[in-house]
Amino acid sequence: MSLLPARVDVVVVGAGVAGLAAARHLHAKSFSVAVLEAQDDVGGRVRTDVVEGFRLDRGFQILLTSYPELRRQVDLDALDVHAFDPGALVMYRNRSYVVGDPFRAPRTFVSTLRAPIGTPLDKMRIALLRSRTLRGDARELLSGSDLPTIVALRRAGFSQKVINRFFRPLFGGIQLDPSLTTSRRMFDIIFRSLSAGESGIPRLGMGALPRQMADRLPGLVHLNTRVANVEGRAVTTADGRRIECRAVIVAAELPAARSLVSLPERASRRAGAVYFAATRAPTAEKLVVLDGSGKGPVLNAAVLSNVAPSYAPAGQHLVVAAMPDVVEGDLESMARDQMRTWWGSQVDAWRHLRTYRIEHAGVEQRPPFSPKRNLAFGNGVFVCGDHRDTGSLQGAMFSGRRCGELVAGALA
Ligand SMILES: Cc1cc2nc3c(=O)[nH]c(=O)nc-3n(C[C@H](O)[C@H](O)[C@H](O)COP(=O)(O)OP(=O)(O)OC[C@H]3O[C@@H](n4cnc5c(N)ncnc54)[C@H](O)[C@@H]3O)c2cc1C
Repeated sequence: MSLLPARVDVVVVGAGVAGLAAARHLHAKSFSVAVLEAQDDVGGRVRTDVVEGFRLDRGFQILLTSYPELRRQVDLDALDVHAFDPGALVMYRNRSYVVGDPFRAPRTFVSTLRAPIGTPLDKMRIALLRSRTLRGDARELLSGSDLPTIVALRRAGFSQKVINRFFRPLFGGIQLDPSLTTSRRMFDIIFRSLSAGESGIPRLGMGALPRQMADRLPGLVHLNTRVANVEGRAVTTADGRRIECRAVIVAAELPAARSLVSLPERASRRAGAVYFAATRAPTAEKLVVLDGSGKGPVLNAAVLSNVAPSYAPAGQHLVVAAMPDVVEGDLESMARDQMRTWWGSQVDAWRHLRTYRIEHAGVEQRPPFSPKRNLAFGNGVFVCGDHRDTGSLQGAMFSGRRCGELVAGALA
């Protein structure tokens, strides 16, 4: 049990990327800070377990290097981000098709034209969507009329075929929303982020990101310290210790934050992920693999060791199967059954490493969706986290920094 200070300027509840971003801002401005984290390590939803030498992120996650807050708050070079190739490998009826971003991977132009993911008009519309979302300021994409993504895609003229074979597995996978009911605004933002930069994974796993952030808060993060009560200018831990402060920042995930501060309820997005060890990679591509049937339960997958060899011991491979909204039942069998239709009986020889069932992966972001929610709740209490902005690393880190700035201003 770490020794807690009796009094600090600011207590931050939660050492996910939002809490760490807030704490770092305040620490840099010379305020005294204590970060109290309930779990045994920093990172919250961004953690990596090392199992038999394999690096297992808690759920299939990627860094989109175009996220402005990543560029601003993190040393991406030190993370040694290994990039996926732009595009995807679409599995459809026992065959695979490379669908690339011809603007960044011209070699994929012909295969993309030939891939049975939609009509030629669909492919032209994807190119138009790309140029529309890349044009101008990201804030413009977050304004204007809002609709469920599926409705917006249909209104834009996309066929059901391309929705099922491309948009559902890709964006349903990223947004953990197979029904594509998430706000069109968020869809546009993700589409822009995918087109503008690289998607990758750090050499040491996604958990290296919060670890790097925490390294700049030496001695200020207290692990295994759950906060039970927030009362104005003091917090009490679950084991009865009390810290007096001038402000409290609640940076817990929404269901936990609601037990400390009065916040409206929002439905959770859930996610399952199954990891397998393979002696032979089922594909040599460094691409995200998409379920072209659009039916799941595995909507996307990847051979992570093709992208970052450090994710597996030498001579072995790591396969992840991502199952948005699936956390119940025998996920391992479901994943094997589906991937056997893609890659045949080699899948039966894969060794199951671990299954993750994440009940709260994020909050629903239905239209009309506006990020940048209020962070100040009066009496010295502030709240940040992905539920106060967009449901992403970008949103969590941005809300954390914004909250740190707000508190610094209030205490100055
Ligand atoms: C499976 C999955 C895939 C994802 N994929 C992506 C992706 O590809 N790209 C992307 O940008 N984003 C992705 N995300 C979303 C992203 O991970 C989150 O938006 C972000 O990590 C949220 O950070 P946070 O700091 O707001 O919350 P959290 O990470 O949840 O941190 C909250 C912290 O508060 C702590 N806490 C809670 N209650 C207490 C208490 N009472 N006392 C002390 N501590 C407490 C928790 O233990 C936790 O450490 C994904 C998420 C999941 C789960």
